[in-house]
Amino acid sequence: MAYSRKPDQKIQVPVFLANIGQLLTLQSLSSKGPRRGRDLKELGIIEDVAVLCLGGKIVSVGTTKDALRDPWLKKNRKKIAEIDCAGNVVLPGFVDSHTHPVFVSPRLVDFEKRTEGASYEEIAAAGGGIRTSLEGVHTAGKRVLAEKVLTVLHDMAAHGTTTVEAKSGYGLTVESELKSLEAIREAASRWPGTVVSTLLGAHVVPKEFQGRSQKYVELVCKEMVPQAAKRKLAQFVDVFCDKGAFTAEETERIFEAARQYGLSVRAHMGQLSATSLSPFLRFQPASFDHMDHVNEDDIVQLAKHNTIATLVPGANYFLGLKDYPPARKLIDAGVPVALATDYNPGTSPTMSMPMAISLACTQMKMSPAEAIAAATINGAWALRLADRKGSIEPGRDADLAVFAVKDYREIPYWFGANLCSLTVLNGVVSRQ
Ligand SMILES: [Zn+2]
Repeated sequence: MAYSRKPDQKIQVPVFLANIGQLLTLQSLSSKGPRRGRDLKELGIIEDVAVLCLGGKIVSVGTTKDALRDPWLKKNRKKIAEIDCAGNVVLPGFVDSHTHPVFVSPRLVDFEKRTEGASYEEIAAAGGGIRTSLEGVHTAGKRVLAEKVLTVLHDMAAHGTTTVEAKSGYGLTVESELKSLEAIREAASRWPGTVVSTLLGAHVVPKEFQGRSQKYVELVCKEMVPQAAKRKLAQFVDVFCDKGAFTAEETERIFEAARQYGLSVRAHMGQLSATSLSPFLRFQPASFDHMDHVNEDDIVQLAKHNTIATLVPGANYFLGLKDYPPARKLIDAGVPVALATDYNPGTSPTMSMPMAISLACTQMKMSPAEAIAAATINGAWALRLADRKGSIEPGRDADLAVFAVKDYREIPYWFGANLCSLTVLNGVVSRQ
């Protein structure tokens, strides 16, 4: 279940994007499954084309000339929202498959401390980090949280994102985690894009459970997971599996609970240290995210599975780290790689997928083409939405982003600037 706003006849009109200079279709390849190895750079570019969308779906992709000769289009031209793309680049809307949008305030003290040299672990030990955001979420009403989420969803759309995975994780009580998921649902119902919701009750062990994390894991397994499943508030369950967070055994217990209640799983893995990944593969996780540290044996295993390695270089950038996830190694070994923002108040306060793409190119040596495929079609795979999202083909959802550039490589090149000029979300046009 992914939340998509019901088609609203007043807003969702047929959309005709004409005069597209470069259309990055990311159309399906003969090989099934997520993009790996060389396939990651196949963008399926066609030039001087037009795209017609009806009822929230893409119905045709072809030359502007041919499209204008179409009898249906001729007859209905007045009813259509016609967009002259002026020779610019159009690509599938970005799929941001890893975000933490349910929080109230930025963490400016942590930010400043880090500029003075404090590490992630030192900040957490001093009572900063994830725990700082808990109080705001505990005291805020659902409506306030929903407004915060909705604001960032709009900002994301302004940067070309049309599908967002949104996690809870700053509640860490049954009540606050469910309230966070309800806030995501409320915001999603008011945004034309698509939102996939994830329960991250196991983000960090809360203070009151310090030294008895088993008790907290029990709360996650016996209360949070069943209630989120019963109320259809989440599609995925996520666990932060790392030193200072949850152990591999605890992660397996939570995955077991998720499976029992029919929820799929994904996990934060290898941000601070490597964890052996093979034992988790039996749960068919949709993704392992971060992956700064990963064992050689696991790379070989991952190349044989559809679990996506989701890299979030914004976190490395914002933490001022010298090292980035080994994207080249993963891609060259055949591991399917996606890119996401990891939007969150502590370690990656950016909603910009173009920024993540630029960092992927400059810091992880991904090519611009690989980075764009990782941010679109493989992001869709990471959310199990690849049959609807991440490519521009007839029958797919009408999710597109127009960038005011002539060559797609300009998207990572002009870093820090937002060159997205228009987004189509499930057929609804949003101009910047
Ligand atoms: Zn995260």
